[in-house]
Amino acid sequence: MIEVKNLRKIYRMGNEKIVALNNVNLTVDKGEICCLFGTSGSGKSTLLNMLAGLEKPTKGNIIIKKKNIETLSEVQLAIFRQKYIGFVFQSYNLLPALTALENVALPLIFQGVAQAEREKRARKILKEVGLSKRLHHKPTEMSGGQQQRVSIARAFVNNPTILFADEPTGNLDTATTLEIMDMITGIAKAHNQTMIIVSHDDEIAHYAHKVITMRDGNIENIKV
Ligand code: ADP
Ligand code: MG
Repeated sequence: MIEVKNLRKIYRMGNEKIVALNNVNLTVDKGEICCLFGTSGSGKSTLLNMLAGLEKPTKGNIIIKKKNIETLSEVQLAIFRQKYIGFVFQSYNLLPALTALENVALPLIFQGVAQAEREKRARKILKEVGLSKRLHHKPTEMSGGQQQRVSIARAFVNNPTILFADEPTGNLDTATTLEIMDMITGIAKAHNQTMIIVSHDDEIAHYAHKVITMRDGNIENIKV
């Protein structure tokens, strides 16, 4: 499903070169749930952003569904993301002026799905994440855990092949973290979706088929 070969990412800041990813090699199979550990600054977010086509590598290859995504143009990448990728951020990234229902339905607008169908699908996935009673609430009218559930629903609404989550429970308490992890991995498993989750929480390893640990821009070890 995902193959990463000799991936390297260097950021330039003035005269300084920052090696965010040194030389990363990785394969992830279909339906696999991977959790990505590593100290702050080890390159986890950089790797995830690159896998999701949000940033371009300096060197190396990323092959997803037999496509070398590092060769795609911005427009091709946008289409690729709409079709195959879901992304959950630590900070939810919901649009504050929109209700839960509107936030979740939004990605479907870009796919040309008709209004009635958009609403039907958004309602269905919001029900799956337990938010049937919060459809018309705006982000500020919901708790952090509820906002993250909306953002999970938004990530899943177009039935992505691959879901990336970058510290999705980083701003949440322990009880909510467990709920959210159960939910996100439960949905991914039910649909045989592939998933990579960045986390600091050891508990999360229980949910994973593969535990990947990063250090200084490299993969230090992979436990299956
Ligand atoms: P993690 O998610 O594991 O905490 P990151 O992938 O965010 O780590 O960052 C890896 C390294 O790259 C860090 O040293 C960070 O400071 C640097 N970095 C990340 N993004 C940028 C950027 N846009 N510009 C410059 N340096 C960056
Ligand atoms: Mg990060």
